[in-house]
Amino acid sequence: MNSLASVGMKAIAPQLKTYPIVERFHSLQGEGTWTGMSAFFIRLAGCDVHCPWCDQKESWNSNLYPQQSIKTLTDAAKAANPAMVVITGGEPLIHDLFPLTKGLKQLGLRVHLETSGAYPLTGEFDWITLSPKPFKVPHETVYSQVNELKVIIANEADLNWAEKQEKKVPSQTIKYLQPEWNSPESKSLIFDYILSNPQWRMSLQIHKFLGVR
Ligand code: SF4
Repeated sequence: MNSLASVGMKAIAPQLKTYPIVERFHSLQGEGTWTGMSAFFIRLAGCDVHCPWCDQKESWNSNLYPQQSIKTLTDAAKAANPAMVVITGGEPLIHDLFPLTKGLKQLGLRVHLETSGAYPLTGEFDWITLSPKPFKVPHETVYSQVNELKVIIANEADLNWAEKQEKKVPSQTIKYLQPEWNSPESKSLIFDYILSNPQWRMSLQIHKFLGVR
């Protein structure tokens, strides 16, 4: 049956599907394994994890942001000619990322994801960074897909959380402890912890030291 609604849905080309976008910009990856490399960031709006120290609180309400089409996003990413495209948020897995990642891959771009893992994985990625949060724990199906585990440390209790998360990811996953930017004790806590737990590395947010996005 050809209802008006189904005719209308078929008429929408995949490239015209839209996502709410906080910002997109070309910079250096500031954290983790790919630190210092050219990266095009697509920051999707929407997050219900609500970490108290979140530095992207303005991204939580997706209704505040204009929708951008896959064509607009992928054209901009391609024009930047980055080493990788990083899909971040907000919590990007609130959205179905298959259409967007397909569009990026069709242009030959390397695609990375930064997620809290609060929702099941969608999309095709070359690299997945899981930054799990105790405020809304990761979906169990995400752990096995993770290339990099990055746990934010604000206080000693967060080290216990990191140890629990470490047990859930594959053994080859690279493991980072990253200081919470505004916690004065976090850097020394991590420094001392890694001396006796050498499977972990420290990640510093170099973009914040450089004063760039
Ligand atoms: S998951 Fe990320 S965007 Fe969401 S509240 Fe936590 S730090 Fe902020």
